[in-house]
Amino acid sequence: DMYSAKRRRGADQDYRPSAAGETTIFSPADLDAALENRQFQLYYQPQFSAQGKLRGLEALLRLDDPILGIVTPDAFISVAERNDIIIPVGAWVLRQALHDAAQWGLQAMDGVRMVVNVSARQIEQPDFAGDVLAALRECEMPASCLEIELTERTIARDIAQAMIQLNKLHAEGVRISIDDFGMEHSCLGVLHKLPIDTLKIDRSFVRALHSEPAVLPIVEAIVSMGKTMLKRIVAEGVETEEDIQALAKLGEMDLQGFYFSRPQSFEVISQRLEEWRSGVVMGVSRPWNSD
Ligand code: C2E
Ligand code: MG
Ligand code: MG
Ligand code: MG
Repeated sequence: DMYSAKRRRGADQDYRPSAAGETTIFSPADLDAALENRQFQLYYQPQFSAQGKLRGLEALLRLDDPILGIVTPDAFISVAERNDIIIPVGAWVLRQALHDAAQWGLQAMDGVRMVVNVSARQIEQPDFAGDVLAALRECEMPASCLEIELTERTIARDIAQAMIQLNKLHAEGVRISIDDFGMEHSCLGVLHKLPIDTLKIDRSFVRALHSEPAVLPIVEAIVSMGKTMLKRIVAEGVETEEDIQALAKLGEMDLQGFYFSRPQSFEVISQRLEEWRSGVVMGVSRPWNSD
């Protein structure tokens, strides 16, 4: 059961369910209680340019369970989405992320964005864009500091509604990113109609770059299309030096992954922010930077 899994794992590792059957360990009532009891937390993972410049921090939701410890979203996000709990949880995520961004003074850091994941159920709310803009005002953050991340599946659920919300946000300066790009429900047909700023190359493509030669033309196509459409490209799941070198051959893009940093708590990020801002990434002198 989950308790023995916790003991086997050791205390200092995040709980990550390994099988699909484990994803229901949290009931909707558990998640309501977790929100009420302030057990949700945000971890953050940095994004860097190829030159090692900090470009963004992605907020990643965690549940601090009294028994399991820090739990990652695969254990609860689908339950939250099926039961609409994602709506109040998502509203909390947005405000907490912007609050933390304000604490760090992100608005004074040139071009560093707070990146927030958004679910389909959230964007289906008619007042979604209005609520995002209200959260920005409450936290006194400029819209240009915020990037929201949606998957193609989220957009595909109701393209007309997504377009209304995204246009409203984009007009105010909020950036829009497509997460896990190319994985499913391709939105190529509407890509030119939606105000998209960033394409995020899915982790599975990055992982397969070395092992599966057939993946290369797909990633090349994403990069070249993104470049032509003047979009920012972020490669996610960058774990090794080899990943960086393989990606560098394909063109200019931003990088995010365990190689640079795992997602970390507010406190840990606070400690590392200064060195990241000054361009010291992992204490190495940017071996992937050819110029
Ligand atoms: P995502 O938005 O695609 O986030 C990237 C996931 O990949 C994160 O998992 C991150 O910890 C993990 N990751 C980052 N770098 C690496 C790497 O180098 N190697 C490997 N193996 N993994 C890496 P996490 O934090 O467990 O989040 C999983 C998913 O849960 C996210 O995928 C996102 O779809 C969803 N999620 C997270 N936070 C939120 C949230 O606040 N709201 C909503 N609606 N969804 C969220
Ligand atoms: Mg994301
Ligand atoms: Mg992703
Ligand atoms: Mg992904």
